[in-house]
Amino acid sequence: MKFILASHNKNKIKEFREILKDTKIELISLIDLNDNEEIIETGNTFLDNALLKAKHISKKYNLPTIADDSGIEIKYLKNAPGIYSARYSSSGDLANNLKVLKELEGVTDRYARFICVIAVYYPNDEYKSFKGVWEGFIANTIKGNNGFGYDPIFIPNGYRSTVAELDENIKAKLSHRAKALQLLKDEFII
Ligand code: IMP
Repeated sequence: MKFILASHNKNKIKEFREILKDTKIELISLIDLNDNEEIIETGNTFLDNALLKAKHISKKYNLPTIADDSGIEIKYLKNAPGIYSARYSSSGDLANNLKVLKELEGVTDRYARFICVIAVYYPNDEYKSFKGVWEGFIANTIKGNNGFGYDPIFIPNGYRSTVAELDENIKAKLSHRAKALQLLKDEFII
C-alpha cells in the first residue's frame, strides 16, 4: 500500500520508515515527489494541523497521506507554546528556550508535556489519528547538546537530566513521537 508522508524533514522520514518497515505501508515523502509547496498550519490544535496537512496532500495526489504535528505544552503558561512551539520567540530554538526559562523564573510548578499527533487521511475522506504524550518538567537552565527544540530544557518524569543530556536511544523509546508512531504501527501491522 502506497502512503505519502507529508514531510520534507529527513530525520522524520527516516524515523517513520524505520517504524513502519514491518507493515504493508510503502512511504513516499514530499522529497520523493519533489513537492516544495509550503502548507500553512492554520489550525487551532495539533490534530487540526496534522489533518490539514494530511488532507491537503491526500487530495492533491489521491493517495492516503500521513502527517504529524507536535509541540510542548507548559502548565504554568496555560499550555503555551503548544501549536506555536516552533515559532514561540520567532528567533529559533535557543531563543525559544530562553523565553520559556524567563517566563518560568521563580515558578515552582514546572509541569510540561510534549505532544505528538499523527493523522492519516484517505482519499474517501475517512481519517484516523494517533496521539503520544511525554510528561515531565522544565529545568532551571539549558543543559545538553543532543536533540533539538526544547530538549535542552525538558526533564522527563523519572529522570534527572534534560532530554538533550540523555542517550538518544532513550528518547527514541519514550518520546511523544515514539508513542504516537507505535500506535500508528499497531494499526497497520500485518
Ligand atoms: P513540528 O511538529 O515538526 O512542526 O515541531 C514543532 C516544534 O515543537 C519543534 O520545532 C520544536 O520546537 C517542538 N518539538 C516537537 N517535538 C520535539 C522534541 O522531540 N524535542 C524538542 N522539541 C520538540
